[in-house]
Amino acid sequence: MITWSIPSIFGSKNERELHRIRPIVGRINDIEAKLQSEPSEKLRELTDKWREHLARYHPLDLAPKSAIDRMDEAGLKQCAESLQTRFSILRKEFASLPAEIAATPEAIEQAKAAFHHIEDRFAKARAKYLLQILPEAYAVVKNAARRLCGSEVLVSGQPLKWDMVHFDVQLIGGIALHRGLIAEMQTGEGKTLVATLPVYLNALTGLGVHVVTVNDYLARRDSEWMGALYQSLGLSVGCLQNQMPPAERRRTYACDITYGTNSEFGFDYLRDNGMAQSHAEQVQRGHYLAILDEVDSILIDDARTPLIISGPAEQSAQPLLALKPGVEKLVKRQTALCNQLAAEVEQQLKAGDEAAAGLALLKLKLGQPRHRRFLRFLESPELRRLLEKTELRYQRQSFQRNIHGVKEELYFCVDEKRRDADLMEKGRLFLAPEEPDTFTLPDIAGRLAAIDADPALSRDQRAAARQTLHEEHGDRAAAIHGISQLLAAYCLHERDVHYVVRGGKVTIIDESTGREMPGRRWSDGLHQAVEAKEGVEIEEETKTYASITIQNYFRLYEKLAGMTGTAETAAAEFHDIYRLDVLPIPTHAPNLRIDRNDQLFKTRRDKYQAVIRSIDAAHQIGQPVLVGTASVEASETLSRMLKLARIPHAVLNAKHHEQEAGIIARAGERGAVTVSTNMAGRGTDIKLGEGVAELGGLLVIGTERHASRRVDRQLRGRCSRQGDPGASQFFISLEDDLMRTHGDPAQMAALIEQAKRGGAKAPSLGKLVEAAQTQLEQRDAKGRKQVLDFDDVMNLQREIVYDFRSDVLTTEGIHGLALQTIEESVARSAHAIVADGDSVIEWAGDTFLLETDELSGLAPQELIPEISRRVRRSHEQRLADVPPEFLEADERRALLFAIDHGWQEHLADMEELREGVFLRSQGQKDPLVEYKNEAFGYFNALMDRIKNEASLNLFHLAASVEAMRASKQVTPPSATRMRS
Ligand code: ADP
Ligand code: MG
Repeated sequence: MITWSIPSIFGSKNERELHRIRPIVGRINDIEAKLQSEPSEKLRELTDKWREHLARYHPLDLAPKSAIDRMDEAGLKQCAESLQTRFSILRKEFASLPAEIAATPEAIEQAKAAFHHIEDRFAKARAKYLLQILPEAYAVVKNAARRLCGSEVLVSGQPLKWDMVHFDVQLIGGIALHRGLIAEMQTGEGKTLVATLPVYLNALTGLGVHVVTVNDYLARRDSEWMGALYQSLGLSVGCLQNQMPPAERRRTYACDITYGTNSEFGFDYLRDNGMAQSHAEQVQRGHYLAILDEVDSILIDDARTPLIISGPAEQSAQPLLALKPGVEKLVKRQTALCNQLAAEVEQQLKAGDEAAAGLALLKLKLGQPRHRRFLRFLESPELRRLLEKTELRYQRQSFQRNIHGVKEELYFCVDEKRRDADLMEKGRLFLAPEEPDTFTLPDIAGRLAAIDADPALSRDQRAAARQTLHEEHGDRAAAIHGISQLLAAYCLHERDVHYVVRGGKVTIIDESTGREMPGRRWSDGLHQAVEAKEGVEIEEETKTYASITIQNYFRLYEKLAGMTGTAETAAAEFHDIYRLDVLPIPTHAPNLRIDRNDQLFKTRRDKYQAVIRSIDAAHQIGQPVLVGTASVEASETLSRMLKLARIPHAVLNAKHHEQEAGIIARAGERGAVTVSTNMAGRGTDIKLGEGVAELGGLLVIGTERHASRRVDRQLRGRCSRQGDPGASQFFISLEDDLMRTHGDPAQMAALIEQAKRGGAKAPSLGKLVEAAQTQLEQRDAKGRKQVLDFDDVMNLQREIVYDFRSDVLTTEGIHGLALQTIEESVARSAHAIVADGDSVIEWAGDTFLLETDELSGLAPQELIPEISRRVRRSHEQRLADVPPEFLEADERRALLFAIDHGWQEHLADMEELREGVFLRSQGQKDPLVEYKNEAFGYFNALMDRIKNEASLNLFHLAASVEAMRASKQVTPPSATRMRS
């Protein structure tokens, strides 16, 4: 039994929410108690009853119009009857539905229309019903879990004894999820089981519930584990796996419940909408409800890189390789310069010229923020303070020009916080001594104006000059971009910290989890730049076929909910971006974890030594230790030190989820020492071995504070599950990235002084760390928001294009859509002709071989509609005696081809535009506003292009049909060549 006094940190709003949920928990338990004396069939009966009720809100499953038109009387009768049955149920709620449906194609079409008319009210009706049956349905799930107790479930090949019946806090969690909240429940509280409640309830709708996990292994584990419960209730469960073929995916989505990772779901959506060539190739069937386990990992950590499906680009320019030798020399030059600067710092200090020393320090920071000696300087609190003072001075308005002077002494400037680098004049001269302008953008506006104003140029020459200018601009922009990416690759991306190189490939390491992220690539050419740096094969510049941010993928769902142990510190972002509120839920048993104060050290070395001492002390008495690190590299360093100290241990870094789950599950056994990157093994439960509780439980040691408080909390949460004892402690040093780049130098210096005199005061240290973390969290949230802001513009466009595409795939009257497309595109071209002052009649005659005699008499406003109607009619006549079903596939293909071709080009254009607005953003303009304004124009042009290309494809199609007919071929037209 849980007590209902909720600690005050939950705040009154949460308290009220929990208070409202409380009576429902009581009701569920009462109903469940009664179910205990019922036969087990009772559960299936109830399930069937609810599903049957909810089936009335299913989408209509009826033959397409073309099939109905061709149906015989018996078929029509059957159709009409099935509609009538459905309507007779729905009419109680929706009186507008017809009572009688005649067995004619027209009446059936009308009935369909009437159905579609009421369809958008289903969501509300469904939600109301679900809320009404919730207590009873949750009781059914709980009771089914009780009945499973003692039985064995095969999970990941191992038999597992079922021993779980939902606790009250789990019922609360389940209710919170159904309400679309994020249930914050600590590690080990049994969130896997919590999800079964809303999953079951919502699966009753038959619309498909998606459960999203952070990796394939967990998807499989949970689908098998919880599958036992669902199956006992008669629901089907499927699990998406990485290499699954489409047919199997389709079957998996057809299940009542589908488990999978966010990439599997997201990529399937992109493939369905950007690539599937027919409705039959699409695998998803809709987006009703997604429940996200470890929701912060998915919606925050993974949300930084969008999901992208790409393929090789048509032409692969590789300016990077050409630029690399130059940049490499440039970096060496700068390093040499920085060595001098470092020497200068020392000299000036000796000479007592503080100002000069400070300036040299500042230059070092701008030139090579990861320069070894620079990092060593920063260990001294005096020098930190000096650097800070100098920075402040140069930040002041009156010094703006001076800072420019400072930068001009460098070849390039690195901004570690912004993670980019800019070439300076000296660097430009170094790279292209003959032609320093190679790396400056031409003044496009000025030169365009000059071209337009030049009276000596003919119209064609002017166009050619403009074209040349644009090309020059494009080439230079590409070179500048390439250099800046290469510099970033060399100066800011470290091997084994930010990426690993294995098997000739550069694989990104997720900074927060230490996980390798195969298949993901840095965008904007950065990945290629790193490949160039490492001398591995540069993967072709790819072309994006489809892309979507994680945020926008999950916004597709009618309902969304999530659970995690750590959501509160990101509550604002969840609310702003996903409209998800966080509800912290009390633990089943009181939490006994002891969070010790952080320990601060001057250097990394000192810190690691203290960590080893601490591990050793625990290990001596047999207390298990879990050590969290911030990177794979740190894990390996620590492992080496442990070997030296002869402490046996296991290392894992989230490379092999399944094996690691096995290792981490044993991390609580007596004497175990486990070193792990931050989130390796997330989702796996650590149970304590025998006698370990008496030793104080699991000791969790953090070797670095993470950029986000959330990740630190996640690590701490690894111990003291379900009322176990346990402790956590962080060790930090002033050399840690967090402290180095975001700590407050003056305060840190003071702390070091205190440390020397015998230990820094913990509270002030905590505050310092927290301040740095908050600052970084905000920066990261801003970064994600920016990705999203830009994707939002795309999202609108994506929806329109995907809708159009999906119409083409599924519409029943494709021939009509084709004709309409032709008419629209002709009208638009005609308008353009008129706008150019040319004769539209002549154009129509030449292009479409129309009889133009009668056209000349028409009023201007009638002319264009008449022309487009005639083109449409002539096209229709050319194909008049070809049965529509013969044409259908080819017409569909003609349209699809135009859409895909246009959209992919558009994606590339938009990418270029995005880079462009950032280059331009040096001025006062807001890049996002610029982007939005121009994106609108791009999009209109895209739709025109698609329709034009589609029309051309359709004309080609007609021509080849005619040609075939002329050669007396009677077979229907097959694959028609498309314009590419
Ligand atoms: P979380 O995802 O919240 O970290 P898990 O779902 O992995 O937690 O469950 C942690 C452990 O708690 C599992 O071993 C599970 O068997 C156990 N557990 C969960 N719910 C119950 C329950 N109601 N009764 C008994 N054991 C439970
Ligand atoms: Mg879990």
